[in-house]
Amino acid sequence: MNNLERLHRTSITATDIASQYWCEKQMELYKLKGPKKATVEIKRGKLIHEQIEASINEKIELEPKSYSDSVFKTVYSSYIALSNLKKNKRAREIQIYGSFSGYKLVGKIDELKILKGDTVLIEDKTRSSNRAPGEAELITHKVQVTLYKKLIDDIVKGNYSVENFKRAYHTQNLNITDDFKSQLSLLGIEPQQQSIDYYAEKLFEEYAKLELSNNIYLRYINQFTKENIKALKFYYSEKEADKILKFAIKYWNGDREALPVPFDEKWKCNHCTFFGNECKVWWPQRTLGV
Ligand code: SF4
Repeated sequence: MNNLERLHRTSITATDIASQYWCEKQMELYKLKGPKKATVEIKRGKLIHEQIEASINEKIELEPKSYSDSVFKTVYSSYIALSNLKKNKRAREIQIYGSFSGYKLVGKIDELKILKGDTVLIEDKTRSSNRAPGEAELITHKVQVTLYKKLIDDIVKGNYSVENFKRAYHTQNLNITDDFKSQLSLLGIEPQQQSIDYYAEKLFEEYAKLELSNNIYLRYINQFTKENIKALKFYYSEKEADKILKFAIKYWNGDREALPVPFDEKWKCNHCTFFGNECKVWWPQRTLGV
């Protein structure tokens, strides 16, 4: 049994992989013990993301009643946002699908923006102060945005197609509910368009058209003032993306147990909810004051 099955998951998210670069053991413990409690900081960050999305994306009033309805809504809203990119110069909260080494990968891109004629990928991170992120945080954020770029490139290059998506998500077996179909009809979506496959085809067509810049961005926003604190630009490296994935997949394959942080990063444990409880790797050092 690999770790994906052991954790009762069906896909790996870009955030999971980014979290592995903070502390793999912590990422696993969150999966085993339940999601991270939404702190005030997390709630504020979510609100800011929603506000930016509402100011850019077309509002889509749909209430899913089943898993299939939710998949439809995700694919449909991602398609609508992406198809308006040229017109709006920005598109927010777009779902991206892909695979690596037989695992389903999934993520949600914060923003695609047309900047001086180039289409660039931007990942937003909110902060409770104007303090710039430390190196360790920066690495995880960079991993996340690097993976989004890799997933888009895979679609553009034809390495991952809508057919791969349909097979991976068994879309032929995903039937949307009658209630949801009525909601779609109210939005003017014709009965023959009321299937996941219909909009998945359209979403992948939009992705395949993207000519994404190799410059990728991290944007830091103050949660209180909502001002941009800092924007960092990186140059995307395909080699680096493969290296990230190869390292991460070894854990998911079960080739290694979840790694705790190394000795010189044990300061992270002081911010970890599992420290001294589910994880005691560096606990003796703490009590010894090492
Ligand atoms: S206590 Fe430290 S090593 Fe253990 S899960 Fe938390 S951050 Fe990782």
